[in-house]
Amino acid sequence: MNTDIPLPAHRWPSLEPGWVWLCGAGPGDPGLLTLHAVNALRQADVVIYDALVQEDILAWAPQAEHIYAGKRGGKPSAKQRDISLRLVDLARAGKRVLRLKGGDPFVFGRGGEEAQTLVQHGIPIRIIPGISAGIGGLAYAGIPVTHRDVNQSVTFVTGHDQSGNTPGSLDWASISKGSQVIVIYMGMKHIATIADQLIRAGRSLHEPVAVVTTATTEHQQVLETTLGTIVADIDAAKLEPPAIICVGQSVLMRQVLDWQGMAAGEAPRNLDPLGRGRPAESA
Ligand code: SAH
Repeated sequence: MNTDIPLPAHRWPSLEPGWVWLCGAGPGDPGLLTLHAVNALRQADVVIYDALVQEDILAWAPQAEHIYAGKRGGKPSAKQRDISLRLVDLARAGKRVLRLKGGDPFVFGRGGEEAQTLVQHGIPIRIIPGISAGIGGLAYAGIPVTHRDVNQSVTFVTGHDQSGNTPGSLDWASISKGSQVIVIYMGMKHIATIADQLIRAGRSLHEPVAVVTTATTEHQQVLETTLGTIVADIDAAKLEPPAIICVGQSVLMRQVLDWQGMAAGEAPRNLDPLGRGRPAESA
């Protein structure tokens, strides 16, 4: 990217010394950064980034020191505290601090905790939302997170709690009944338990499921499976996190909306996968 190109005219905020901006980097593709994120990258003295942030995005802040604060699910919370306190120290040292997190900082990203610690220490903050993997990552797989023939609501759940276990507090039966589409973050480790709970709660063994790994990057992989076969299929395909798991009929829409496949020359598999026969132009 050419950093000489100015951003479009707008009153862009200035990242002042002593401030911390908590910013979402989106799911991977740098094109999914917001303009506020680009504005922040250009001004930062220090960028503290997570494992899920694509390294090529850091090249957009060549003037800044880059500090890796990698942490994958289930690690002790003491480490989180260290990161938050490091942000405080850097701000107090008069740095322009950019805390860059995968996806959206307030979606399963502990951004709320970091922001709270900063405010408790009197550090001024700005929050820059990002495109969350559970929405943008699915869009890159051709799966609309809502579709009016499928769902009026969507539930985003985490497959881990703080201790690294399946969240004991989640009422899978209610989620299963109340939400036609369930989008699971951090679900790979406990997918066998999660699938089992959903089936026990009444979801069909044949319910469509998609697993999208490293979504929006050049390594994106999409597995289409069902609740009954997901565990064996993930093993067979040797899929690794990070992955978004989407449970529900909207997964079928990929048969007509796999735009990356179509761009590569594949024909859509089914023009009307939900069987509604609705002419495209009807209201
Ligand atoms: N704040 C992030 C989520 C952080 S939790 C967001 O809004 O997207 C980490 C989990 O996010 C991963 O375990 C995975 O479930 C999901 N995730 C993040 N980036 C992803 C990507 N590029 N592809 C697939 N899943 C991703």
